[in-house]
Amino acid sequence: MNDIATISYVQPAYSPAAAKALARKPQLFINNQWVDSSHGALIEVEDPSTGRIVSHVVDASPADVDRAVAAARAAFDDGRWSGLPPMARERIINRLADLLEAHADEFAELEAIDNGKPKAMAGAVDIPGAISQLRFMAGWASKVAGETTAPYAMPAGTVFSYTVKEPVGVCGQIVPWNFPLLMATLKIAPALAAGCTLVLKPAEQTSITALRLADLVVEAGFPAGVVNVITGLGHISGDRLVKHPDVDKIAFTGSTEIGKVINRNATETMKRVTLELGGKSPVVILSDVDVAQVAAGAAGAIFFNSGQVCVAGSRLFAHKSVFDSVLEGMAATAPFWAPRPALDPAAHMGPLVSKEQHDRVMGYIAAGKRDGASVVMGGDAPATDGGYYVNPTILANVNPQMSVVREEIFGPVVVAQRFDDLDEVAKMANDTCFGLGAGIWTRDVSAMHKLAAKIKSGTVWGNCHAIIDTALPFGGYKQSGLGREQGRAGVEAYLETKTVIIQM
Ligand code: ADP
Ligand code: MG
Repeated sequence: MNDIATISYVQPAYSPAAAKALARKPQLFINNQWVDSSHGALIEVEDPSTGRIVSHVVDASPADVDRAVAAARAAFDDGRWSGLPPMARERIINRLADLLEAHADEFAELEAIDNGKPKAMAGAVDIPGAISQLRFMAGWASKVAGETTAPYAMPAGTVFSYTVKEPVGVCGQIVPWNFPLLMATLKIAPALAAGCTLVLKPAEQTSITALRLADLVVEAGFPAGVVNVITGLGHISGDRLVKHPDVDKIAFTGSTEIGKVINRNATETMKRVTLELGGKSPVVILSDVDVAQVAAGAAGAIFFNSGQVCVAGSRLFAHKSVFDSVLEGMAATAPFWAPRPALDPAAHMGPLVSKEQHDRVMGYIAAGKRDGASVVMGGDAPATDGGYYVNPTILANVNPQMSVVREEIFGPVVVAQRFDDLDEVAKMANDTCFGLGAGIWTRDVSAMHKLAAKIKSGTVWGNCHAIIDTALPFGGYKQSGLGREQGRAGVEAYLETKTVIIQM
């Protein structure tokens, strides 16, 4: 356990490899080449552990986006990727995974510097997760298949009919800043397995690992134009990608607010769209649990990655018989989750990603206090010279009208409510416009299944939280998204089905 009083908010020095990656000239990755932007605009790259500017990336112009889309279009249309033997596509995707693995430590450090998450967390979760996205999806390159299906209303043998799965085409992939490399690979892996080409746009706050990934794309042997990476602002380059007539599909992970904008904008050209959006995921704790163990789990469900997780367990519902002891147990984890600089080996939680996010989260905490919530733990920010730290926070005495209960905070803030019976808590858990994840903690198998059936969310966890695996479909009910990623569903989202009917 840490002693909060002795935490030093000094970020340890960067390694030479990380310093080199940060010192790169701001450029875009188009057609397997590093190219200058059509204009000089740049975006500052900040280390959220210190608030210092540590690099710059290109703020791509609409003309830059057009160049990247043209490269992806040409690479798709001439079949230089989709026409390869599936075995070759599979091998190249796997080579990219191998290269990531060989550079895992550098990627973990860059993610820590760019996003603020502890390097140990990035090394344990983000980078292995990214590698497994690639490895799992690589195999689909050779497993995608249609069906031979006899028609219903015609005599046998009069027509021969079958379906073929074809890649959807050029994909625009827009990812957020909370798991930068993991989200990037989660997007590119199924697209590449399906035979698509793509333009990836990382979030403006965290573009460094996507650029470094592009170096490895060349080394892995992808033909030019298959993977293109543009950095830039959402409402400029992201918007151009969404509206571009030569883009066939948009895959987006981010806020529900922007997801709605993107869905509307993509409609004009009838792009295929998958959206993975916000959440306000419930964690339901029944009366029969081992409180100490479950309290630690509930704390991890919200404080992991500083709560900047779409499935963060941000609404806690504990049975009235264990409510106080669960909160006590969670409050006891404060020293463990105390924020520290991302490169501090003792860090379990880092700062938030940006000043904007810090101010937003502190604004929610202030609103919760104003509305009458009581602070069980945290509720403030540590005094530091720089960096965007917020202490892990538990709010109680809340009601369903408060903004802290209704809205996604995307920070280390959980609101705790008590309940009496299963029907009541199912209603409370579903009283939200979101439906991404839900956690249920109990040893009562029957209660577990009953609640799992009642809760409207894309994923339900039993006695765990936020376990996400590339083989298992992931996505949202209600305003948490559209479509599914990962698993077979994930690759299907990058395929069109063509039906062929031949009269004999
Ligand atoms: P947050 O508000 O947490 O930063 P956003 O949903 O705004 O999350 O951003 C997620 C991703 O969407 C980022 O890559 C961002 O650049 C991009 N983005 C933001 N606005 C738009 C837009 N209007 N069109 C396309 N992409 C956008
Ligand atoms: Mg935004």
